[in-house]
Formats: sequence, C-alpha cells, structure tokens
Amino acid sequence: MALSLVMFGPPGAGKGTQAIRLAEDRGIPQISTGDILREAVQTGTELGGQAKAVMDAGGLVNDTIMVGIVRDRLAQDDAAGGFILDGFPRTVAQATALDSILDGREPIVIVELAVADDELVNRLSRRRVCAGCGSIVGASEASPACGVCGGQLIQRSDDREDVVRERLRVYHQQTSPLVEFYRRRPTFHRVDGSQSPERVARAVDESVDAMIGAGR
Ligand code: AMP
Repeated sequence: MALSLVMFGPPGAGKGTQAIRLAEDRGIPQISTGDILREAVQTGTELGGQAKAVMDAGGLVNDTIMVGIVRDRLAQDDAAGGFILDGFPRTVAQATALDSILDGREPIVIVELAVADDELVNRLSRRRVCAGCGSIVGASEASPACGVCGGQLIQRSDDREDVVRERLRVYHQQTSPLVEFYRRRPTFHRVDGSQSPERVARAVDESVDAMIGAGR
C-alpha cells in the first residue's frame, strides 16, 4: 500500500535522518523542502535568490512559493506510489493546501518527533552536514570527514546558535499550531525524538505500521 507521510517536528528533531532512512526502507522518495531550497540557492536560481535571505535569518519562505514547489514535486511520477515529506507543511496554510493537493489519495500519515528546546539548541549548534553527499552528522560522531563519502563536513549557515533560536521561535509561533490541526486524525502519532536515532527509528516504524490503513 502507498505510504504518504509527513515527518513533522522542530528543527533538529531528527526529521531528515528518519525521513531518509524510512524512504530508503520503503522504496519511496524523501522530499525535503529545505534541500530543494538549498539547492536553488546553490545553483543561483530565481527561487534561490528569493529564499536565501529568509533562510539565513531563520524565517519561513512564503506559503504560495512553498505550496507551488510541493505541488509540482508531488506530481512527478516517483511520488505516485507514496512519499515522505520532510519540512513541509510548516504553517496551517501549507497543511490546508496539502490536504487539497492530496484530495482523493490515501490519507497522509503524520509522525511528530517531539524534542525539548534545550536539547534542540544543543544538537543543532553541534550538527555538521557533508558538503559532498548531504549526510547529517551528530556531535558525538564529529570527525573531520564524512564517514559515508569522505567529503568535507560543514556547519549549515542557519545552524548558528542565534539563527537556531530564531528558527525555534518561528517553529513555536507558526508550525506548532499544526499539532492542533492534525491531532484528532487517526493517522497522527507522536514519537519521543529525544531517544537515540535507532530507538526513534523503531518507534517510527511501529507507528507507521500501526497507522497504515487507520485512516480508511
Ligand atoms: P530545513 O532544512 O527543513 O530545516 O529548512 C531550512 C529552511 O528552509 C527553513 O528554516 C526555512 O527558512 C526554509 N523552509 C524549508 N521548508 C519550508 C517550508 N515548508 N515553508 C517555509 N520555509 C521553509
């Protein structure tokens, strides 16, 4: 059965790590709106030009732009058999638009990864990503080179502590109302994201398996 899933939670909760793993396990694409925007910034497209300053300040890119990006991406062939959204929706307006984009498809499964703010600041200010393959490296594994491809590990410009605090403020103000938006759906599940990545993975798998079909 097709799995259409929203990996939801604050910055640093482990959405990317879990979304990449789950997508690989289930053979469906992981769609990260942050990655799409970062790629646009890197290649210097018009979208990249519009998004860069907002991203560097820890704010949110305009809903109309984001909904357009996701609508186009979900219309591609590889998303027909399911997908994992990572970093979208981030506002109630985006969530409402997503419901109408997916009208007529299987109900989406929503997994919230919950982690306390102090832990998030700590994780993000120590997080490094590989400039080569995009792997995410936590503080405890920090080494000069990426363990996957040997590429250089760098800090994302928006993982500086002042920007992280702003991203968390924006999360609480604009994104956490989505819990209320989704909470009553039978396909919503909260997972404790403060555990080790392996334990979180197990809990995510269990809740996904339990929820597949729950909304029909
Ligand atoms: P992420 O990699 O998901 O943490 O996203 C990095 C940055 O991209 C965010 O801090 C926002 O500035 C922007 N961004 C990503 N996804 C969205 C979205 N759904 N809505 C608005 N801005 C977004």
